[in-house]
Amino acid sequence: MDLPVDEWKSYLLQKWSLLPVSIQLTISTAETLSDTFLQSSSLLQPEDEMFLKRLSRGYLVGKDREAPLFYREEGNKKFQEKDYTGAAVLYSKGVSYSRPNTEDISLCYANRSAALFHLGQYETCLKDIIRAQMHGYPERLQPKIMLRKAECLVTLGRLQEASQTINDLESNFTAKPTVADSPFQILQRNLHHLKVKIQEKKNLTEIFPAALAKAFEDMDLREENEQISSASSSISLCTDPLKGRYLIATKDILPGELLVKEDAFVSVLNPGEMQPLHHGLESKWSTRVTNGDLYCHRCLKHTLATVPCDGCSYAKYCSQECMQQAWELYHSVECSLGGLLLTLGVFCHIALRLTLLGRFEDVGKIIRKLCDETSHKDICLPESKNLVKTLNYGLGESEENGKIVQTPIPGCDVNGKYENNYYAVFNLLPHTENHSPEHKFLCALSVSALCRQLEAASLQALTTGLKSSKLKAEATPEFCPDLDIWGVAMLRHMLQLQCNAQAITTIQQTGSKENIITNSRQVRLATGIFPVVSLLNHSCSPNTSVSFISTVASIRASQQIRKGQEILHCYGPHESRMGVAERQQKLRSQYFFDCNCPACQTEAHRMAAGPRWEAFCCNSCRAPMQGDDVLSCGNRSCAESISRDHLVSRLQDLQQQVEMARKLLRNGKLEQAIRRLLGCRHDAESFLSAEHTMVGEVEDDLAQAYAALGDWRKSAMHLQKSLRVVEVRHGPHSVEMGHELFKLAQIFFSGFAIPEALNTIQKAEEVLLVHYGPWDDEVQELRKMKSCLLDLPPIPVGPSV
Ligand SMILES: [Zn+2]
Ligand SMILES: [Zn+2]
Ligand SMILES: [Zn+2]
Ligand SMILES: [Zn+2]
Repeated sequence: MDLPVDEWKSYLLQKWSLLPVSIQLTISTAETLSDTFLQSSSLLQPEDEMFLKRLSRGYLVGKDREAPLFYREEGNKKFQEKDYTGAAVLYSKGVSYSRPNTEDISLCYANRSAALFHLGQYETCLKDIIRAQMHGYPERLQPKIMLRKAECLVTLGRLQEASQTINDLESNFTAKPTVADSPFQILQRNLHHLKVKIQEKKNLTEIFPAALAKAFEDMDLREENEQISSASSSISLCTDPLKGRYLIATKDILPGELLVKEDAFVSVLNPGEMQPLHHGLESKWSTRVTNGDLYCHRCLKHTLATVPCDGCSYAKYCSQECMQQAWELYHSVECSLGGLLLTLGVFCHIALRLTLLGRFEDVGKIIRKLCDETSHKDICLPESKNLVKTLNYGLGESEENGKIVQTPIPGCDVNGKYENNYYAVFNLLPHTENHSPEHKFLCALSVSALCRQLEAASLQALTTGLKSSKLKAEATPEFCPDLDIWGVAMLRHMLQLQCNAQAITTIQQTGSKENIITNSRQVRLATGIFPVVSLLNHSCSPNTSVSFISTVASIRASQQIRKGQEILHCYGPHESRMGVAERQQKLRSQYFFDCNCPACQTEAHRMAAGPRWEAFCCNSCRAPMQGDDVLSCGNRSCAESISRDHLVSRLQDLQQQVEMARKLLRNGKLEQAIRRLLGCRHDAESFLSAEHTMVGEVEDDLAQAYAALGDWRKSAMHLQKSLRVVEVRHGPHSVEMGHELFKLAQIFFSGFAIPEALNTIQKAEEVLLVHYGPWDDEVQELRKMKSCLLDLPPIPVGPSV
């Protein structure tokens, strides 16, 4: 997904392998990125571009005349089944394939408004009604949506508007005698009903004035730190010849303290598995729902009511405003390139968007400025020279013509301030020397192909002119003359992304709504660049955690950090998720460094037994088993020994059994699921340590099953066992622990076990607050549960006779 699709990747790698060795050598030993780019792109042939075009055409990214009807019918099916969420999303797909100002689009919007009405999303429903009317909703159907509009307004307490809508509706009807009698009568009845409702509401609002809306009182860090924008005043930026740039605490920091709150400089939504079309597929259109259908492509807000771009079907937004902003900032250029960008992958897309955003800060000027500063003709230096530069920066000064001058930290402006801007992004390290020549060739040719498409598109826009005037204004980007500079900048960004791309994640609730426990999982929503977050170095046991609301990243201290200590976050390989060898390998291949964090140092010494959550135990005495190929019991008085292969295959069998039990659970066959899970647990106990992840998962599944049966006592008992496993693996203050405690709180809550519930809510809230802050959904939910429990009237004790 990050890199180009496999077909294009292997095509280019083959092209590389067929190049004469001399050319390969010239490219691999190019002094500068600019040389790498120019030499590679001179090798891009028309037939390569044709091949890429064929791949790009495989994606359905434009408007489609027949799709709206298909999706409307599919949506109606869901609507009939009362799956209003499913219906809304399918209507949205219909909307996105419709051309603006057509009956198709207005019908899709109108149907979606009905689904939103049933979901209780009245504000959004109203917006859709207006959209339907704007795009030419048929006159004959108007009464239907106007009535819905009036009902929404009543529910929202906007009574004056509701009355107005009803008046309009009534006057419209007397004017149109063609309306058949019976629907007319139904309408009259509904209108009467609504009028009564309005009166009732009016009386109520007089008695209870509306509660004051709570202000969004979250911190804004933009101006707090004089040196680094978006950071708290508790941290400061340093450099060091070995570490490069890093952040340290300037005072003691408490767990949960907000350290960085930064909006992405750029972000691109990961569209989900947008599979290219294949011939012979039963339907051209897919009803599968991906993140691309559910989140705004600009601000990443979750929405069932997306508004599509007027020109394509793949860019969808939460609102007209987001659509407009995206258009002005980048989409006017990207719109016609949808298929190509999907083929070239998210990194290429981000690289393009970065330079498009950068044009507002003038890419050319920044590059020239960098040239002056470094007094080198080319900014795209190989890393070795950069290192010398960094060394000089490390001393805070450098010698120039015998004079010692102060040099700022890379990425900072003349006043030493580091900001979330294109200049800071440009200064992120591309690690040019560490990438393989093939990889650089792949990136360079992809970027070069993109440049040629941009050139063709803007030429076309110039010569033929486009229908839409706003298209004409924006699609003639000023980069035509400097296309090579843009290409080099994009190549640099593509190489930077491997180490600096930040996954933007969200917590998605899984499982059915009827279940009393909500399961959540973290999903990757988008890829972004955050210049300030990028200043943090990695540790496998970090002292911060990161969370996202829309495109804003928040970094909070996950534990106490002493003054002078470095602020660290985890790039992915966390000590509780993988062993030291795997982590080291991952960090070396993706980030080009050997991790020396305390976790890696201590773990390397006690590798023999492996972590407790992966440990096997003795069949007869339950002591931990030790060894490599053949494991023997750790208890000296016990002579058990067994081959690792045997244990591993038992674990695989167990995994399969658990999968089968989960399937039963999903299909509502609860008793059967429980029987099978109890069997699994019994089996697990005979060879896995009590803290083995698998044991915890089985207990968690059992808790789900009992919760679904309504037996909260048994559910809580099993969840507490799962909790212990999570604690051993992830620690008592970890996010994972927070989610598990949240589940336990839900169970106690639904069982009205008030003291246990309050106690667990307290613990869960404490943990989740540290990682996610007060606006997290789960924290909010916990607070609601707590106030609900505290407001409960005392429950009579003992059975009533
Ligand atoms: Zn948005
Ligand atoms: Zn578009
Ligand atoms: Zn480490
Ligand atoms: Zn033993």
